[in-house]
Amino acid sequence: MDYVERDLAHIWHPASQMKDYEDFPPIIIDHAKGVKLYDVDGNEYIDIISSWWCNILGHCNDEVSSALKEQVDKLDHVIFANYSHKGIIELAESLNRVTPENLTKFSFVDNGSSSVESALKMAFQYCQQNGKTEKKRFMCFTDAYHGETLGSLSVGALDDYSKVFEPIMLDTVKVEAPDCYRCPYGADRDSCSCECFEKAEECFEEYGDECCAMIIEPLVQGSAGMKIYPPLYLKKLRALCDKHDVLLIDDEIAMGYGRTGKFFAVDHAGISPDIMCISKGLTNGYMSMAAVATTEEIYNGFLGDYESHRAFMHSHTYAGNPLAASVANATLKIIERDHIIEKANEMAPWLNQKFHELFDDNPNVGEVRSVGLINAIELVEDKETKKAFDCSLRLGYRIYRKALERGLMLRPLGDVMYFNPPLVISKEELEEALDICKWAVGEVLDEIN
Ligand SMILES: *Cc1c(COP(=O)(O)O)cnc(C)c1O
Repeated sequence: MDYVERDLAHIWHPASQMKDYEDFPPIIIDHAKGVKLYDVDGNEYIDIISSWWCNILGHCNDEVSSALKEQVDKLDHVIFANYSHKGIIELAESLNRVTPENLTKFSFVDNGSSSVESALKMAFQYCQQNGKTEKKRFMCFTDAYHGETLGSLSVGALDDYSKVFEPIMLDTVKVEAPDCYRCPYGADRDSCSCECFEKAEECFEEYGDECCAMIIEPLVQGSAGMKIYPPLYLKKLRALCDKHDVLLIDDEIAMGYGRTGKFFAVDHAGISPDIMCISKGLTNGYMSMAAVATTEEIYNGFLGDYESHRAFMHSHTYAGNPLAASVANATLKIIERDHIIEKANEMAPWLNQKFHELFDDNPNVGEVRSVGLINAIELVEDKETKKAFDCSLRLGYRIYRKALERGLMLRPLGDVMYFNPPLVISKEELEEALDICKWAVGEVLDEIN
């Protein structure tokens, strides 16, 4: 039996309809290097989405691999309650250096969703045991995505993931998120004063008293289709949270680690959250790990004698794993030493200009939007009305399949096609990816128009 048959015999893949696999089998990847993936049949693919947004430094970076190889014979794993190790101490110190100043305490879990669960529980428990017992709910944005466990789903709002679970989810308060492409105020994200912020103000006025925290994806709602909003919104939100004594949870899982051109997306607004979640870029795609950063104030709110039950009992077996710490340390070291983010920033205007050159005139490209090396095009049936295509056309999915024929891995978000490449990608690789992207978009639009 070949690999595809063996795969389909037993494997249930994530975030996809397995029925699709009947005429679109999984691509069996054999190895990877830099921005390229190579399959078992000898085909190569440009990984323009950094394999689910993780590989900041590209695949199989020699230095990161060496760090892992060195660690693997030394210490594989150790219980993280009452025990520690050099790698995780170094990582906490480094994260302390790169995160906003007031974030000084770091806990570790083993995936992004778990870090969101941890952040939500931390905020809730903090309020419960520090005299704010009426604060029992969470606020989040419409169109939000924070992961797929029940708690993190509850603060998300994308129907594909959460609709069916509505009857068993937490009852959260949804703040209407900024929607700059279809701005109801007719404003422009580059020059507006966040008129839409009044929606948040109304919500806080009504529900602020009963909410312990608001969780956000900073600057970009990634899974919703790379929906970018202005840093000013974050600034205003920080002030509003303070006014209503609501903690601000900053989910930097997708947008941290230089994705937006600064180390963390909140750095664009110069604000500090009360709790920050970090994952994806943290280990450059090598090992599963996430960190939850918080303040002295919140940390101190959990201190007490054992009988007080004030401790934070959120544990995961693989928390603080030494192998994951080793690759996280190597990744951060390279990002800083080699000025990876600064170099990506030098290339960003060029890439954005290319996107505009290639797509501005396309009658079905509603918007080209970008931040950092992230560039997205939103495809619409009608540019004037911004009317979306009928989702049964599965436009994005078809473009994705088309692009694969020429070796570009362009996994879409609905009808939004985007680049979120390793920050180390070269101009030549980007040019090749752009050519294929333009060709695939054109082919599929021709088919339906
Ligand atoms: C990916 C992601 C998560 C979930 O992380 P997992 O490791 O997939 O559980 C949470 N929040 C955001 C913003 C993400 O992009």
